[in-house]
Amino acid sequence: MKASRIVLLLVIAALMAAFFIFDLGQYLTLEALKSRQAAIESYRSAHPGLSVVIYALLYIAVTGLSLPGATVLTLAGGAVFGLLWGTVIVSFASSIGATLAFLAARFLFRDAVKSRFGTRLQAIDEGISRDGPFYLFTLRLVPLFPFFMINLAMGLTALRVWTFYWVSQVGMLAGTLVYVNAGTQLAKIESLSGILSPTLLGSFALLGLFPLLAKKIVETVKALKVYRQWHKPERFDNNLIVIGAGSGGLVTAYIAAAVKAKVTLIEKHKMGGDCLNTGCVPSKALIRSAKWLSHLKRSEEFGIKQASAEFDFADIMERVQSVIKTVEPHDSIERYTELGVNVIEGEAKIMSPWEVRIKTADGLQVLSTRSIVIAAGARPFVPPIPGIDTIDYLTSDTIWNLRTLPQRLLILGGGPIGSELTQCFARFGSQVAVVEMAPRLLVREDPEVSEAVMARFKREGVDLRLEHTAREFIVENGEKILIAEHQGKPVKIPFDQVLVAIGRAANINGYGVEELGITLSPRKTIATNGFQATNYPNIYAVGDVAGPYQFTHTAAHQAWYAAVNALFGQFKKFRTDYSAIPWSTFTEPEVARVGLNEQDAREQGIPYEVVTYGIDDLDRAIVDGEAHGFVKVLTRPGKDKILGVTIVGEHAGDLIAEFVLAMKHGIGLNKMLGTIHIYPTLAEANKYAAGVWKRAHAPQGVLRLLERLHAWRRG
Ligand SMILES: Cc1cc2nc3c(=O)[nH]c(=O)nc-3n(C[C@H](O)[C@H](O)[C@H](O)COP(=O)(O)OP(=O)(O)OC[C@H]3O[C@@H](n4cnc5c(N)ncnc54)[C@H](O)[C@@H]3O)c2cc1C
Repeated sequence: MKASRIVLLLVIAALMAAFFIFDLGQYLTLEALKSRQAAIESYRSAHPGLSVVIYALLYIAVTGLSLPGATVLTLAGGAVFGLLWGTVIVSFASSIGATLAFLAARFLFRDAVKSRFGTRLQAIDEGISRDGPFYLFTLRLVPLFPFFMINLAMGLTALRVWTFYWVSQVGMLAGTLVYVNAGTQLAKIESLSGILSPTLLGSFALLGLFPLLAKKIVETVKALKVYRQWHKPERFDNNLIVIGAGSGGLVTAYIAAAVKAKVTLIEKHKMGGDCLNTGCVPSKALIRSAKWLSHLKRSEEFGIKQASAEFDFADIMERVQSVIKTVEPHDSIERYTELGVNVIEGEAKIMSPWEVRIKTADGLQVLSTRSIVIAAGARPFVPPIPGIDTIDYLTSDTIWNLRTLPQRLLILGGGPIGSELTQCFARFGSQVAVVEMAPRLLVREDPEVSEAVMARFKREGVDLRLEHTAREFIVENGEKILIAEHQGKPVKIPFDQVLVAIGRAANINGYGVEELGITLSPRKTIATNGFQATNYPNIYAVGDVAGPYQFTHTAAHQAWYAAVNALFGQFKKFRTDYSAIPWSTFTEPEVARVGLNEQDAREQGIPYEVVTYGIDDLDRAIVDGEAHGFVKVLTRPGKDKILGVTIVGEHAGDLIAEFVLAMKHGIGLNKMLGTIHIYPTLAEANKYAAGVWKRAHAPQGVLRLLERLHAWRRG
């Protein structure tokens, strides 16, 4: 804890201790007030200004320090200053005192709470920024919880100070008025509990609940407004229509069919979407062949004097297609029909919130449905660089059609897709140049992760053009050239073929999104709330079209929430859980991550400790000739709770699974250390990382005592 925090904590503790040690509470009781009323009033008549100041300061101190006695002080306000001035003074003093308590809680404990409950607090903060003023107003009016608890709890959230102040002042006004008014009749009051009659309490509760009810009404009106121009059918052909049979759509349809809903899945191109046809499956198949070749080149390391390979690039690309064919049945029309899904090959267009028109080879048909899930995916983003349309560029959609290896391949973009394909083509023998605006590849990862990947790329002959911005494509004497800008100067990079891999744009056009006015996010994806619903409560979106992640497993994860909320949302809704989202970049070295890395933690202001275990020390990695990489774990300071993990090395994407489970279920490094890991495996790296953490947190004092004990026992 920072020194300033310790000082403030000590001051507050000393003041509170003084209050209780000197029994100052005895002066803040109804009896004490009544017995001293005459003396207080005569002091006020003699010193009117000073008595306001003293009273206000006393009030601020009691509420600011969360001490008991504010109710009696409020009565005193009425008794001494009358209804009008008593209400004004108490209203300001109580709000200032509450805000001081709020600020103290924030200053002392917010960071600690943030580091402990990171993502959960983020969700609470999002809720507070949306509904915080409503909740605070209700809590101020309905005295369910003591005010001092509300002040402290709100201080731990991200609620703005000014919002807290004014909502508190407005919310407390009715109660203040009642108590100050009672104070003007002090002689008649026998107990504090009698001041609020059940009728008055009931009225406060109604008043307090009003904003929440109003909010619900506004939401309902908003929903009615989006539906107003559409005619809702009396009956529906389907419970659910799913647009797009990629990872997101397939899982949505699967879940809906599993719970016996009538579900129609519409796909206009290929079942399986990007992942099967142009994404994960072909890229990993290509990586496998490239890795095999790279092992051959390293044959001497494994005691094999000479090994060579003869290959035809076209055969490798044919193998990729045959892998797709082998996986295809998992996503096929036959399989999904058998599972109970009505699969239609055709192009869907949303005509109304309950109707989807499908253009098939046989013509048009319109189906009605209670709910719709949009899983229309994304496509490669092609930037409007001058000349790009003249050079027949490749994207991750079209690269799979290549049958001749490009001699000089230029890759625009050093993100995961660009990096995976860079290494593959370099290993097949292309001269690969990567053009990246940032100073390193894989910029979302920590710098040493990028370093490890870039070092390997350089060793494998990749030409890394970092801090290069593509400006123009030209053809000079029949040669294709990219003109890039580097440190303010133009640089010419000649190439035979170029792959554009600088990001993916959500598919939001051409199927009714504009016509219905479905809201988009600033990133031009379909905007969804925490339940995957769009601004139409019966239309949901998942996967690449919705974001924020663009992975197969996140599309599938969101699909569960969309399907369940779409079918059962009237009874219970489930908020999508993003607490432990992993991903991997399948370069060599492989990179995998879950949760925070250092750059995220710093950006979000989350305190952390970091331990790193070097895989170069791991027996199995040494045996396999893959002794490189690391496991880097971020934890809450002083605790074994995992905030995030990055693994670089062989099979990093598999190794991270243990940490994903641990994070999801709150298992700390101590428990991982106490779990048996098979020897010799790469998975032991996870346990050893936990061991590094344990050694760094060994109780030094206890160990010194033990050392002495053992010495003494030796005699
Ligand atoms: C080269 C590459 C490698 C990748 N590697 C990985 C990886 O290793 N791991 C990983 O997790 N992710 C990877 N991804 C990302 C992954 O492929 C996507 O995140 C995933 O496919 C998204 O699934 P989706 O269902 O949202 O969309 P998609 O798979 O794109 O499916 C959308 C479907 O909707 C259909 N559609 C669109 N509009 C309509 C309409 N109007 N009517 C009917 N049908 C329509 C489309 O034809 C498409 O089939 C990779 C992507 C690429 C490009």
